[in-house]
Amino acid sequence: MPKPGYRQTANHRKKHSVSIVGEKNPSYGKRGEKSPIYGKKRPDISGSQNPNWKGGITSQGGGYFKKSSPDHPRADSNGYVLLHRFVLEKKLGRFLRTKEIVHHIDGNPGNNSAENLMVFPNFIEHMKFHKANIGEK
Ligand SMILES: [Zn+2]
Repeated sequence: MPKPGYRQTANHRKKHSVSIVGEKNPSYGKRGEKSPIYGKKRPDISGSQNPNWKGGITSQGGGYFKKSSPDHPRADSNGYVLLHRFVLEKKLGRFLRTKEIVHHIDGNPGNNSAENLMVFPNFIEHMKFHKANIGEK
């Protein structure tokens, strides 16, 4: 945040000179810790103010995705819920219980279309289903 009395003109001049020396500047294009210009120019924006915001969907690891949903009753401490659970909840029109397991019909955890998801009441039922389907992927 600029301080009161911060001089815009000085800022512009700095920015201009950097753009001239840009490619010769060792930190050119790195856009990070080393560049005081970018540090000032890019305030900490996140969430819906971020131009790269894609509905808050991010990788969970293991091929799974999670979605930012801070108002969700079962969001994790960072405000995320697993995307496949979120999608199925929309489809069912209710929140899933913690015990309920969402199964990816095609076996691809990245395919989170509602048609690819089904719910099992608990872990055991889900395992039974997988055992009954040995031989399938
Ligand atoms: Zn499954």
